Amino acid sequence: MKKHFIIVLAVIALCVGCDNGNDTHNHDSGIWRTVLEPDCETTGTKELHCNSCNEVFDTDTIAALGHNYPEWTAPTCETAGNDTRVCTRTGCGHEDIRSTGFAVLEHSFENGICTVCDFMQYDIGDTGPAGGIIFYVSATGFTLYDTDPAKDKTVYYLEAAFARETYLSQWGDNSELIDGVSTLTSAGALSVIGQTIGYGKKDTQIIAAHMDGKGIIPYVAAQVCANKSVTVDGTVFDDWFLPSIHELMELITQKKYFNNMLGEYWSSSQYPVSAAWLMSTGGTPHPVSKNSLSYYVHAVRAF
Ligand SMILES: [Zn+2]
Ligand SMILES: [Zn+2]
Ligand SMILES: [Zn+2]
Repeated sequence: MKKHFIIVLAVIALCVGCDNGNDTHNHDSGIWRTVLEPDCETTGTKELHCNSCNEVFDTDTIAALGHNYPEWTAPTCETAGNDTRVCTRTGCGHEDIRSTGFAVLEHSFENGICTVCDFMQYDIGDTGPAGGIIFYVSATGFTLYDTDPAKDKTVYYLEAAFARETYLSQWGDNSELIDGVSTLTSAGALSVIGQTIGYGKKDTQIIAAHMDGKGIIPYVAAQVCANKSVTVDGTVFDDWFLPSIHELMELITQKKYFNNMLGEYWSSSQYPVSAAWLMSTGGTPHPVSKNSLSYYVHAVRAF
C-alpha cells in the first residue's frame, strides 16, 4: 500500500502544471496572448500560453500606449501656433493644452526685411530709418553699386529726405563726360524701366570726387548729397546720394509724400557730352548743361 502511494506522487511531479495527467512535458517557452488591449492611459494584460498544452503559465501587463499627439503648430511672425492638440488614437480624443509657446512672433527686422519670414518692414510713403520717406520698394531687391565693386550690395528700399536740400546747385562742369557715371544718350533709353536704379550712389561718388577742388560755386549737386549727414536716435546716416535719373523718376512719382516738391531736380545721370538729366516735378526728364546753376537737389539713400 505504501509503495503504490509513492508512485502516484511521482507521476504528479513529472506533469508539472499540466491538466492532462498523462502528459509529462515541461512547458515550452510559449506564446503571449493579449487578454486586454492597452489604451492611451490604461495598461493591458497578456498571458503566456504553453505551446503544447495551452496552459497559462505566466501573466504580465502591457504598458499604456500614451497619447499620440500631432506636432504642435509652430507660431510664425503673422499667425499664432495652436494651443490645443487632440490625441489621434481612435476613441481617445484627449486634449493636450499648452499655456506658452504659441503666441505670434515679432518680426525680426534687419535692413527693413524680416530675417525669419522676409516680410518687408516699409511701404512707399512710410517714414524710413533715416527719417526720410520711402519712395521705392523692391521685393526682390536690386544692386546698389559702389565705386568699389566689393561694396556692391543688394538693397530693397530707396528713402529720400523729406525735403529737398536748401540751395540751388550746379551738376558740375560741362567740359567732359565723366567716366563711370550712368549715361543715357536718348530719351528712349529712359523708357527702359529701372535701368539706372542702383547707380545713383556710385555716380555720386565719382562726380563728387571728380569735382573736388574745381572751385565750383556755389554747390555741386553730388557733393551736397555726399556730404549730407542725418542722425536719428543716435544712428548716423551719411550714405546719401544724388539719385540717378530712374531713381529720380521714382521719387517724383511719389512727390505727394514730400515737402513742397516743386521745381526741377538734378539726377546723377549724364547726357553726352556736356549735359546731365534733369526732371521737373510736373514734366518729363530732359538734358541740361551741367553748368546750369539753378536746379534743386533731393538727396536719397538706399538700404
Ligand atoms: Zn504545458
Ligand atoms: Zn490618447
Ligand atoms: Zn517675420
